[in-house]
Formats: sequence, C-alpha cells, structure tokens
Amino acid sequence: MSDWTHRHVLDLAAFSLSDFATVLELAQRFRAMPTSGARKLPALQGRLVTTLFFEPSTRTRSSFELAARRLSADVVSFTPGSSSLSKGESLLDTVRTYVAMGAELLVVRHRATAVPQQLAEALDAAGESVAVLNGGDGLHSHPSQGLLDLFTLARHFAPDAPAPEALRGRRIVIVGDVLHSRVARSNLWALTACGAEVVLCGPPTLVPEAFADFVAAPPPGQARDPVTARGLVRIERDLDTALAGADAVMTLRLQQERMQQNLLTSLDGYHRRYGLTHGRLAACGRPVPVLHPGPVNRGVEMSGALLDDPAVSLVEEQVRNGIPIRMALLYLLQSSLNPSSKRP
Ligand code: ASP
Repeated sequence: MSDWTHRHVLDLAAFSLSDFATVLELAQRFRAMPTSGARKLPALQGRLVTTLFFEPSTRTRSSFELAARRLSADVVSFTPGSSSLSKGESLLDTVRTYVAMGAELLVVRHRATAVPQQLAEALDAAGESVAVLNGGDGLHSHPSQGLLDLFTLARHFAPDAPAPEALRGRRIVIVGDVLHSRVARSNLWALTACGAEVVLCGPPTLVPEAFADFVAAPPPGQARDPVTARGLVRIERDLDTALAGADAVMTLRLQQERMQQNLLTSLDGYHRRYGLTHGRLAACGRPVPVLHPGPVNRGVEMSGALLDDPAVSLVEEQVRNGIPIRMALLYLLQSSLNPSSKRP
C-alpha cells in the first residue's frame, strides 16, 4: 500500500510526502465508516493501547481512546495524580509496568520536550515490541494535531480526494503564539512538505524572526530532509497584510502556562492587533476557513461569534477529523508490532 516504515510517530519532521499521503488516504477511508451499527474494525483486536498523559488534555486523549476502540483495541489510561509516580516511581519504570501488562501502543504526552522520543529509544534498546505515539511534548511536536489539521484543510480544498496535493500553492496564515506552540511546529513541517506557503503572524515576542528559517535546513537530528521540495515560510507582523490573499487561517492559543512574564502588554491589546473576527477576516478578500487546535480563549485569539459560525469555523471539524487520523496512525503502527500479542 505504501512505503511507510515508521515504528513510532514522534515528529512530522521525519515524514516524507508519501507518509502524509498514506495517512490522509487511510483517514479518509476511516472517516467514511459508519459510526453506528458496524462500528468497529477488528484491526487492533487483542492489542492494548495505553494513553499516558503527564499533562492535561481534553481532545487528544479522548480522541486516541475512541480511535483505538473503533479498531477493537483494549484501552487503559494512566492518570499521574493517582499513580505510583507520586510515590517516587520513575517515568520509565511506570511505562515499563504498562508494557509488562501487555501495552503495545503507547500514546505519551509530557510537558518536557523529547520525553516520548526518549521512551521510544529506551524501549527499543530493551528489545520491546512497542510503538510510541507522541501526544504532544513540550514546545516541540504534536504530530497527530498537525496531521488532523492537514486532513481538515485537504478536505476543505478537495473534499473527495484530500491528498497532500490539495495544499500545493495554498497560502495558510498561522496567527498567534507560535513560540510556545508545538502545534505550529508540527504544522510547519506538514504544510511545507505539501508545498503550501505558510505566513506566520504575531508580535516578535511570540513569532521570533528565527521561525522564517524553521524548515530551511534538514530537521534536527536528521542527515537530510525527507521532503525534497518544501513550500515557503514568511513572517508578517501586520495581520491585515498577512491575511491578504490567504486561503485559510489558523489561530493559536496564547499558551500562558508556558510564557515567561512580559511577553504581552495586555490581552485586550493582543485581541485588537491579532484577534480574529468576522470584520478582520474581510482582509482576506474572499471567504476563508478558520482553524484553531483548541482549547480556545474566546474573545482573545478569536471572537466567540467567529468560533461558533459554521460557515467559517472548522474547529469542530478538526475535532471530528482527529478520530480517523488517530485510527490511521494506530493502524499503521500496529503492522510493525510482533504478530502475536504477548499479553498475560
Ligand atoms: N491542544 C494543543 C496542545 O496540546 C494546543 C494548545 O494546548 O493550545 O498543544
């Protein structure tokens, strides 16, 4: 079916154009499946999926769990507050406990960058047949969000064939707190791989100049970029200028929990300069969709009226698309696991 070779999904910087195409194609098939009646596919029967979220989540965790269940997996969720971590058990020992119980697909979120990568390395070194999916690590990467955003945009531009080509030459504006956003970083890898032009917009404190070169060199830790021709990244400080000619606009949450002080003068001032409203969107010169990974601060990144307007807002569509995207990832990763489950 494809040349998919990944044993873990840790970062979209490692994805080739064909990897993106494979995930989108599978997600489109899963999305077309009825959600009632013959609900479940047997692909993950007998497999145990464990979600280990060391940082809060509403969408990602539930969406992975639903995706796993729709593929007939068993699902166990780890909750840090009530676990032995609070008794001093190390993170790796906690994870190994689940692996000993038969967990083969681990979805890991952590506030520190690279925790899912380090766990994957440690489990590989121990010879475990386990796949790690990054559910968001620090400021670094949120691959399933990047993929569901890509899928949502591709479906918007090409509803019947949402392939990477649907993004080629499109201008996608990302507004807001790029600095603290792992979603923005994953979107940069995904969108430029598909040939889109990405315009980043925000104040210099939240969109540093260095982001203009984000995808210019091989991804960190890789000898070469798996994508031969990437789209462009441009920075614009003025929102109206950024919006001119846009094909879609994505706005990001102000991640105040990750911010040092004094990055912004006031939330009102931020909304006036960078908040999306129906009026501001007129600068695009034509109707364009708006995305947000959630959770949304209403009246800050975007007005409540815009968020709730189904003619413009793709936010609920993003949430819906998260399930087939995560089904596709689980499905692809289970093919590299040992065929027989080692569960006790
Ligand atoms: N839910 C996304 C994340 O976990 C975006 C956000 O929190 O603003 O990164």
